[in-house]
Amino acid sequence: MAKKIQAIRGMHDVLPQQSPRWQFLEDRARAVLERYGYAEMRTPLVEVTELFKRSIGEVTDIVEKEMYSFEDRGGDNLALRPEGTASCVRAAIEHALLDHPQRIWYRGPMFRRERPQRGRYRQFHQIGVEVFGLDGPDVDLEVILLTRRLWQALGLDNLRLELNSLGDADERARYREALVAYLLAHQDALDSDSAKRLHSNPLRVLDSKHPDMQAVIAAAPSLLDFLGETSRRHFDTLCAGLDAAGVAFQVNPRLVRGLDYYNRTVFEWITEDLGAQGTVCAGGRYDGLVAQLGGRPTPAVGFALGVERLIELLDADCVTPGPDAYLVAVGEQAQNQALLLAERLRDSMPGLRLLCHCGGGSFKSQFKKADRSGARVALVLGEDELQQGTIGVKPLRHDGPQQQVAIADLPALLARPDTEPTPAAQHASTDQ
Ligand code: ATP
Ligand code: MG
Repeated sequence: MAKKIQAIRGMHDVLPQQSPRWQFLEDRARAVLERYGYAEMRTPLVEVTELFKRSIGEVTDIVEKEMYSFEDRGGDNLALRPEGTASCVRAAIEHALLDHPQRIWYRGPMFRRERPQRGRYRQFHQIGVEVFGLDGPDVDLEVILLTRRLWQALGLDNLRLELNSLGDADERARYREALVAYLLAHQDALDSDSAKRLHSNPLRVLDSKHPDMQAVIAAAPSLLDFLGETSRRHFDTLCAGLDAAGVAFQVNPRLVRGLDYYNRTVFEWITEDLGAQGTVCAGGRYDGLVAQLGGRPTPAVGFALGVERLIELLDADCVTPGPDAYLVAVGEQAQNQALLLAERLRDSMPGLRLLCHCGGGSFKSQFKKADRSGARVALVLGEDELQQGTIGVKPLRHDGPQQQVAIADLPALLARPDTEPTPAAQHASTDQ
């Protein structure tokens, strides 16, 4: 036998039995985003490497260690996108979307060459939003309220919000001096990455995940003490808004985020239920990025959430893959007619999820497959039914006799909730 080829480490297939959870999350997220007036944007998975270097920052984990970059056959330096914001900004500038405020969302795979472990993959998926052209704390608040509504829509109640302000560039520069002085005084305690970043990008040291670094980080000076009047007011207004909306949060003065482009508001939603990889959603303001990438100065705020991490938190029973009906055909003539009948049924019942048996076999074996499919009912088509224009309907999820009904009466029968409604149907009726 030929040698099997396997998927790349850290890059995963979403198997048919897993996809309902993905679809559940994606559908709910899209519904919430549309309710806040966000429009979807899709950008290429590959961009010039320079885009990410210039936006995320040269001295960041992503750019230094994690990017899949390569030279293509034409000699261009390209990279698989490690995140979505840079591409959104690039596209918004390129297509002149920024002359008025924009609320945009995106979803899709991102690529980072990290050490694969629970909640950390080399291809992972994000859903993110970017708001352009609004500089007030009101829109920061809106973005966070949107995430809260999303958690509600997903049935997640175990997430906590951490918040910080990175101030503006001048304030950060002054803080940087104080931080460098502090870190120099604790140089012995720094791991090798942090020692290197002490000079190139000291704020990044606060983002270190190194266990030995946590005590040093906890005692470092607080950025919040360096905020000027305007940044302070922005932050306080946001905090007051969160209070008024009943959103609990903790201010975490060490929260700096792993990307260089943030300023003022930064936040993370964190769970304790996933072990070390507990941040499921992270974002903040990045007022300087549009100009940095060649656009006119345009304030912006956004977030990205980690789809895999959220999916792990979803209730196992939140979705069901089962079809409504499974069509079983007994006898040659019936088998010849089954697919045509299935088409007619789909025509007359637009919402019907119908699985039509293919491949023949005995009545018993077809029925077993019907049962295993998770369908609510089996529809039985035999020679008698063909002659009489009827069909047998046998409930599969509870005991009950097979009924013979005229095909014309089938829509009414299937619409009747005399079989338990599927969890999917329940969800559809409580759509957020
Ligand atoms: P972390 O601190 O966990 O490395 P990050 O700061 O690098 O996260 P962001 O770039 O802000 O993460 O991405 C936003 C979200 O995307 C994260 O909060 C997380 O939920 C998810 N995410 C980031 N990297 C990965 C990954 N390698 N695998 C799975 N999910 C990820
Ligand atoms: Mg990271």
